[in-house]
Amino acid sequence: MSTIQVLKPKFHVEECLDQIRQCLEQGWTGSGGKTVELENAWKTYTGHPNACYLNSNTAGLHLAVNILKRKYGWQDGDEIISTPITFVSTNHAILYENLHPCFADVDEYLCLDPVDVERKINEKTRAVMFVGYGGRVGKLEQILALCKKHGLHLILDAAHMAGTRVNGVFPGTWEGVDVTVYSYQAVKNLPTGDSGMICFADAELDAQCRMVSWMGINKDTYARTTVQGSYKWNYEVDYLGFKYNGNAVMAAIALAQLPYLDEENARRRELVAIYDQVFSQNPKIQIIQTPYPQECAYHIYEIAVPDREGLLSELAKNDIYGGVHYRDNTEFSMYRYAQGTCPHAHEISQHLITMPLHLYLTNQDVERIAAIVNEFVK
Ligand SMILES: *Cc1c(COP(=O)(O)O)cnc(C)c1O
Repeated sequence: MSTIQVLKPKFHVEECLDQIRQCLEQGWTGSGGKTVELENAWKTYTGHPNACYLNSNTAGLHLAVNILKRKYGWQDGDEIISTPITFVSTNHAILYENLHPCFADVDEYLCLDPVDVERKINEKTRAVMFVGYGGRVGKLEQILALCKKHGLHLILDAAHMAGTRVNGVFPGTWEGVDVTVYSYQAVKNLPTGDSGMICFADAELDAQCRMVSWMGINKDTYARTTVQGSYKWNYEVDYLGFKYNGNAVMAAIALAQLPYLDEENARRRELVAIYDQVFSQNPKIQIIQTPYPQECAYHIYEIAVPDREGLLSELAKNDIYGGVHYRDNTEFSMYRYAQGTCPHAHEISQHLITMPLHLYLTNQDVERIAAIVNEFVK
């Protein structure tokens, strides 16, 4: 039996190399060419009206906060309600812009709980940062209703949601979502090396994002180079921008991977169904519920067990490597000010273990892993 890792990206190597070859032959590895192709392909795939390719989701979350702050005149110290169960990027993005992450608790889906979100809204609240945890849409609809009621904006961290739909629609395109940010990081559902996509609902904000992601320069180099006739060297710098643009080599990989995303997500759902089936027989194992499970792009599969450390070592004895994904962010020294404000998140985060979930696993692998887990957790 060979080693089983918790996550393992699958690359369609020949298609990737083909795309990269085209990119190299075009002689353009920066922003432009393949990045424009990918933005168009992503808009077609998701239904987002705008898409701007970036070097990461983290950069995108920062830009989302930066641009909404400028647009709506938010002040330093204003608050964004966010989740403690996430990768720290989500919350760092708020701090980059001198705003304050106000933590709300998570629900049975490990996504923000609308009841606690409403409790935490105060006169300084400007927005909600929602993470579609594990690919789940959670109660985003209710959160959007709350945002409408209280005049708040919504940023969707869709790092786990590449391919998630609800009744055929990408939740990031729902009315009321100001901006959605996807990740194509190395182990995400659409893996590249590192990159991401930011999708503003508003075309004007998308245009601004293009400038801010490229040092604040009002014309990208590709546009200046490909404009007919002479090189249009003249440009203006309107914003203190960042070097956050995505590059064509990463975009080439994403273009090769994208046609497989839906069938790969369907395969993830099959594997999840096997785990669920076995674990639902065991009262000591808590399965994390999923709304619209038939359309979820499961990025990670977690369960809550009484003795996580014990289970991790038991799996390791079998050369199977489970994982622990995200610690409750309020345990980190820089977010400790919020300790005790999200009791459910705190409690469950000590019991969550990530089971192997990737496209190299066979049904038999998952049955074997599930049997080992089931045997151990008694
Ligand atoms: C991976 C991840 C990010 C960061 O994505 P990058 O593309 O690596 O910057 C942000 N939020 C969540 C929930 C993630 O899982």
